[in-house]
Amino acid sequence: MLGGKKPSKRPAWDLKGQLCDLTAELKCYRERTQTLDQENQQLRDQLREAQQQATVLGAERRTLEGELARVQAQAEQGQQELGNLSARVLELEERLGTQESLVQELQKEQLGLQEERRGLATRLEEQERRLQTSEAALSGSQAEVASLRQETVAQAALLAERGERLHGLEMERRRLHNQLQELKGNIRVFCRVRPVLPGEPTPSPGFLLFPSGPGGPSDLPTRLSLSRSDERRGTLSGAPAPPTRHDFSFDRVFPPGSGQDEVFEEIAMLVQSALDGYPVCIFAYGQTGSGKTFTMEGGPGGDPQVEGLIPRALRHLFSIAQELGGQGWTYSFVASYVEIYNETVRDLLATGTRKGQGGECEIRRAGPGSEELTVTNARYVPVSCEKEVEALLHLARQNRAVARTAQNERSSRSHSVFQLQISGEHAARGLQCGAPLSLVDLAGSERLDPGLALGPGERERLRETQAINSSLSTLGLVIMALSNKESHVPYRNSKLTYLLQNSLGGSAKMLMFVNISPLEENVSESLNSLRFASKVNQCVIGTAQANRK
Ligand code: ADP
Ligand code: MG
Repeated sequence: MLGGKKPSKRPAWDLKGQLCDLTAELKCYRERTQTLDQENQQLRDQLREAQQQATVLGAERRTLEGELARVQAQAEQGQQELGNLSARVLELEERLGTQESLVQELQKEQLGLQEERRGLATRLEEQERRLQTSEAALSGSQAEVASLRQETVAQAALLAERGERLHGLEMERRRLHNQLQELKGNIRVFCRVRPVLPGEPTPSPGFLLFPSGPGGPSDLPTRLSLSRSDERRGTLSGAPAPPTRHDFSFDRVFPPGSGQDEVFEEIAMLVQSALDGYPVCIFAYGQTGSGKTFTMEGGPGGDPQVEGLIPRALRHLFSIAQELGGQGWTYSFVASYVEIYNETVRDLLATGTRKGQGGECEIRRAGPGSEELTVTNARYVPVSCEKEVEALLHLARQNRAVARTAQNERSSRSHSVFQLQISGEHAARGLQCGAPLSLVDLAGSERLDPGLALGPGERERLRETQAINSSLSTLGLVIMALSNKESHVPYRNSKLTYLLQNSLGGSAKMLMFVNISPLEENVSESLNSLRFASKVNQCVIGTAQANRK
């Protein structure tokens, strides 16, 4: 009935009905309680189950929470890391930028380098090729060097032996050279006739003749004939007398056409003796205008063709000295050039304020007990090449020119003495040799015209001429005394012979040029000169000895 239709209310009296209703209702409640219990039980089971589930879920939640925390921490860390990483990325990006530009640069550089490398490679190839050829050549050379070394050793031994022999030969050459010079005579006289100059009268044919020697025209000329027609010896009939012929013979005669080179060739060997230690003295003797200065210093204008003996001799000496240098000899040369006028000595190499006037010079011994003579106040100039000699000759000419304005033609009235002191040394063998070479342009030998009136100018000229004549005759006397081996040789009688005393005499070789004018008007002076020269030519001076220490 509980679930069904509610029975209508029973009257108060109906108790039985009411009881029946209540029992039915109870029964209904009971059933309902039972259901509810079941339901309760079910719910309880469900609760238990749910509780169990809750426990499980709780545990699970805790785990998850832990995990969440961990994940969060991780996330935080990740975040931080991310921050770091993005900073790093920025940094790296920046670096990347620089690196990229660097890379670009490097790439460019690389390109350049590649280019260069290609160039180098080709060069290397070329070098390698060359190296290969060089190596081939080197190995060839090495073999050659080895054989050359062997050869060198042999050569050195041979060379030493040759050097020894060469020295022996050189000393032998000197001995023979000297012997040859001695055979030619320690006093030699050469006659040189100058050509007729433009504007001068042509001499009559036959005035001067150069007869050939016994060997015919192929012989070098040594003879000269001079013809003089003498009016004083006219015959009674009034016809002119035939000219008198004067014959002379010398070691050598140079006719007018002879060149300076030809003349020098003849004396080159003599000059060389000075290097070997024999004093050599060369004079030019003759009247003014006969060609003495031309012979000694040379012609005008610096033309090498007409260079005189002084520059030629020095050039020759320098070149021979250089050759001897190869055999261990060293030579030095010192030049001086003085003028002796009226028995006073003047330096022709004076420079500066002394130029042209050159304070008086004196001839003195170089030291106490010394044989050597020097001229005080004169310059002694070391020379080693042609140019220096040229400069000295130029200076001497200038000095003479200055003097000429003061004293007319003084140079032809004075002796010019060029001296070269030669010193040679062979250090390895401890040998020394040295000798002076003197080249003297003598004063004009002309006599004073006896018919000349003696005015004041002429008196001065007479004094000059006497001084010249006396010094030239002293020279003749000195040569004579030497050739006669007289105990007294009058060197001191003139400044000239005093200055030259070491270049004359026993150990010396002497050569005199007698210079002759080709003109008929000069015939008397030419004869005088030729006679003087002939006297000298007859002198023979004893065996020369080299100045060796
Ligand atoms: P010196 O010195 O004897 O007085 P020089 O040497 O001055 O004589 O000569 C006189 C002139 O003759 C000069 O003009 C010179 O040039 C000339 N002379 C001399 N000898 C020769 C020669 N062999 N050849 C050409 N000219 C010469
Ligand atoms: Mg002269």
